[in-house]
Amino acid sequence: MRLLFLGPPGAGKGTQAMRVAERLGLAHVSTGEMFRQHVADGTDLGMKVDAIMKSGDLVPDELTIAMLEERITHDDAAGGYILDGFPRTLTQAQALDEHLGANGLDAVVVLDVAEEELVGRMMSRGRKDDTEESIRNRLRVYAADTMPLIAFYAARDIVASVDGVGELDDITVRILSVIEGGSGGGQNRTV
Ligand code: AMP
Repeated sequence: MRLLFLGPPGAGKGTQAMRVAERLGLAHVSTGEMFRQHVADGTDLGMKVDAIMKSGDLVPDELTIAMLEERITHDDAAGGYILDGFPRTLTQAQALDEHLGANGLDAVVVLDVAEEELVGRMMSRGRKDDTEESIRNRLRVYAADTMPLIAFYAARDIVASVDGVGELDDITVRILSVIEGGSGGGQNRTV
């Protein structure tokens, strides 16, 4: 099973992707985590992306796509995975299609959270790239570059929108229910 978690920054994609991956025995593939690890390790890639991440801009597609395509060849991804934070642009989505074929994703889960709530959540989680300016920029970048992916995947009837506000456990249950409701009827649902 291959899933994609989409949603604005601060919607809780990382937290929920981790929980759902554990429940379903899938690998959790987060390009943001991978980039943060490169920065922490001081690799060449880490040095290239550090300033970009702090500003809230996107890392160039070619670097991101190469890193992701390599990651999903690892053994732990053979039984399926959750993509968290990739793709974030149409170019990345097209590259993923070329890599997996157009039916490569089983479901796209969109976490819905209102914008006012997002800023508060990000300010309180205290990540290094969570300055007010960077948060505003990430929200702009999300609206401009990533939101169009919802329509891109909705055209395939694989999108399920989930209310991302409430208790963590309740949100996980909502996500599991739309995934397990699965393909074949009731697609592009809202829970
Ligand atoms: P995240 O942890 O998903 O919020 O990602 C943190 C930062 O890593 C983003 O603000 C981007 O600078 C970078 N990043 C993560 N995933 C991608 C991606 N798919 N494309 C471009 N940049 C990314």
